Amino acid sequence: MRRKLVAGNWKMHGMRPHLREIDAIAAAARAHPQVDALLCVPYTLIAAAADIAPDFTIGAQDVHESDQGAHTGDISAPMLVEAGAKVVIVGHSERRADHAETSHHTWAKAAAARRHGLNVILCCGETEAEHDAGRAERIVQSQIEKSLPDGAAPDWLTIAYEPRWAIGTGKTPTLDEIATMHAILRAKLRGMIGPSANEMRILYGGSVSGANAASILAVDDVDGALVGGASLTAAKFVPIIEAAA
Ligand code: 13P
Repeated sequence: MRRKLVAGNWKMHGMRPHLREIDAIAAAARAHPQVDALLCVPYTLIAAAADIAPDFTIGAQDVHESDQGAHTGDISAPMLVEAGAKVVIVGHSERRADHAETSHHTWAKAAAARRHGLNVILCCGETEAEHDAGRAERIVQSQIEKSLPDGAAPDWLTIAYEPRWAIGTGKTPTLDEIATMHAILRAKLRGMIGPSANEMRILYGGSVSGANAASILAVDDVDGALVGGASLTAAKFVPIIEAAA
C-alpha cells in the first residue's frame, strides 16, 4: 500500500516572512499523519525552515552532480544535507528549459543526492508541442529510461509526472489521460526495476489545487501531488493535504 505524498515546490518564491506559512503547513501535516507532506523551498530558506519545523520534511529544488568543486553558483548534496534538507527535486521541466538540463544530468544529480542520503523526486513530462504531436508517452518513457538512477528503489525515489503545459497554466490533463500516463510509467518502472516498482510513488504535478486535488488523487497509480503555486500558503496547501488524507 503506497502512502500518499503531497509535495510543495516553492520555486523562486519565499523570503523569511513566509516561514510562518511553513509553520502552519507543518502543523497541518502533523494533524494528518496518514499522509506524507513536504516542502521544497529556495536554498536560502532551507536552514531556517528546518529549524522552525524540525519534525517536517524540508527539501531543495535542485542539486549539483559533484560533491564540491569549481562550480560557481551551484549547491552540492552535502551542502543540502548540512542545511537540513532531506529530499531534493531533480529534472524539473523548468531546470530542463531554463538551464538546458538533460536526462543525463538528471540521472547524475539523482545519483549524487542518493550518495549523501537524500531522498529524490525525479520529474518527467512532455511539452505542449510534444503533447499535441501525440509524442507524450514516448518522451516520458525515454526520460525515465535515461534518468532513472542506479539502485532506484521506492524507499528513496519518487517519480513525478508533470506535463509542462499544465504547469502554472490552470490547465490539467483529463483524469483518463493522467491514469494512462501513470499506468505507462508504472509499467516502465516495472520493466526497469522489477516488482519493487509497485511500491514506488508516482506523483502528478501541474495546476493541482484544493479544487481538483481530491479527484486527481483518486486516480489509479496517482500516489500524491507535486504542487507549485498552491503550495505557497497554508490556506491553499492544507486543503490538498486534507484531500490526500
Ligand atoms: P503549479 O502547481 O504551479 O502548476 O506547478 C507545478 C510544478 O511545477 C511543481 O513542481
